[in-house]
Amino acid sequence: LSPPRRLGDPDPVRERSWWGWGWADQAVTGPELDALVGRVGAFLPLSGEVAQVPAVPTLPASRLSVPPGVTARTDDAARAARTHGKAYRDVVRNLRGELDHPPDLVWFARDAADVARALEFAEATGAALIPYGGGTSVVGGLEYRGPDRPVITLDLSMMDAVLELDEESLAVRAQAGILGPALEEALRPRGLTLRHFPQSFEFSSVGGWLATRAGGHFATGYTHIDDLVESIELVSPAGVATSERVPASGAGPAPDRLWLGSEGALGVITSAWLRVRRRPTFKAGAAVAFGSYSDGVAATRAIAQSGLGPANCRLLDPLEAMLGAGATDGGSRLVLGFESADHPVEAALGRAVELCRDHGGTPADAAQWRGTFMRAPYLRDGLVRLGVVVETFETACTWSAFEALHAAVLEAVSPAVVTCRLTHVYPDGPAPYFTVYAAGRPGAEVELWDGIKARASAALLAAGGTITHHHAVGRDHVPWYRPPGPFVAALRAVKATLDPHGVLNPGVLGL
Ligand SMILES: Cc1cc2nc3c(=O)[nH]c(=O)nc-3n(C[C@H](O)[C@H](O)[C@H](O)COP(=O)(O)OP(=O)(O)OC[C@H]3O[C@@H](n4cnc5c(N)ncnc54)[C@H](O)[C@@H]3O)c2cc1C
Repeated sequence: LSPPRRLGDPDPVRERSWWGWGWADQAVTGPELDALVGRVGAFLPLSGEVAQVPAVPTLPASRLSVPPGVTARTDDAARAARTHGKAYRDVVRNLRGELDHPPDLVWFARDAADVARALEFAEATGAALIPYGGGTSVVGGLEYRGPDRPVITLDLSMMDAVLELDEESLAVRAQAGILGPALEEALRPRGLTLRHFPQSFEFSSVGGWLATRAGGHFATGYTHIDDLVESIELVSPAGVATSERVPASGAGPAPDRLWLGSEGALGVITSAWLRVRRRPTFKAGAAVAFGSYSDGVAATRAIAQSGLGPANCRLLDPLEAMLGAGATDGGSRLVLGFESADHPVEAALGRAVELCRDHGGTPADAAQWRGTFMRAPYLRDGLVRLGVVVETFETACTWSAFEALHAAVLEAVSPAVVTCRLTHVYPDGPAPYFTVYAAGRPGAEVELWDGIKARASAALLAAGGTITHHHAVGRDHVPWYRPPGPFVAALRAVKATLDPHGVLNPGVLGL
């Protein structure tokens, strides 16, 4: 028996931060904060003043009452914590107490029938309904921004059961609200793993991953949740759609492809079958130093095109290597990792290191990037409290476009400081991930960031990149989300058919 939990909290005892990332007790303080000031203060002026963690603000009264038999909350704490996602601009506005469109009602869905009931209620009351998985959106996917109307946040955290496991076919069926750790916990005793590890893994959900086409941290090969899904159940005002569960099919356009990346605008994903794998037992890793960044890029491309398929192949530029991996020599770092549940991987690692040597790479100390990586969202919030503008954005482009794209981004965000790491690499191109640091102007941080983001986004598109490799479109990326015209017309027609009253997450994807 698990202890009763507070609604919407993954842990019954521990408190989630309402304004920032993760657990409240993990916020950066004391010596860790001092060390952060030292590291970042080396390249950015810091005032040393730290914004206080705000109390939950008093919100306008809810305009909706809870229908009988429904599990819901209308208190300020529940509504404030779900007003925004977890982007930089969300954290800043929370710290300032600027919550312009809080939901009126947080409805905790219990099953698919309850989801259908919530949709009917939204239609009847003229409310917008925003599906909410783990709440880690960084693109304004959870924040209503349209004309004044009541807003319901449909929280799926109570739909967190693992429903079925097909060990013969290596697949699991889970409800959409389950978070990464709970799913892995259920699979571990069977020697299985989904092995989908976005950086937000601890607090993001299966439904959120599918709705945003999340990317895990397999550097090569199957990293997008798109490749791991077998079948989806989705509830919309037009009914329940459950796709066929088969390993592959050539029968017409695939329904799941329509739901993947639909960001709650076409329906609510209630459960899914996902492909799992045996847990890796063979592992090998190495770090390689490059004096020249372009040599590092060339080596990374050689590995991506070699067919070796490393699980980790993460190229850190010099500043990223300093901040994220403790490198002090001013060079870049390539962090390599191989794994298998079936065979030793030393030979593959050896060959990858050889390819690095061919491009001037030399063995380096094993980088400590993983700890920094998991701690990064807390550090980001610490910097925000210090008044720093700090945010990430990511893209993907062909290898032939990369050098010019990289240069264009650096120029577009200047004079802000920017670091780059290649998080995923494909035979035809990398997924560069940028982190921006700029000194904030008190009260104008969001505007400053929005300006940097607009310049960077325009540069990405002009240089042949996508507006997002894995962060989704939400509302923030709409100006730079440009699918072909006939596709947009088709998408609008689908939206009108499935959601005729426009209740489902209005505004995301420009719908
Ligand atoms: C620190 C940090 C690190 C991150 N790292 C990564 C990363 O490595 N890879 C990556 O891909 N992303 C990353 N993200 C972005 C985010 O975690 C992903 O977009 C994630 O997939 C969102 O999942 P969630 O459950 O939190 O969804 P939410 O934030 O709750 O929702 C995201 C969107 O999906 C919709 N939605 C949620 N659940 C459903 C559902 N069941 N049915 C229909 N629509 C639904 C919501 O309405 C919203 O539009 C990161 C975010 C943060 C803050």
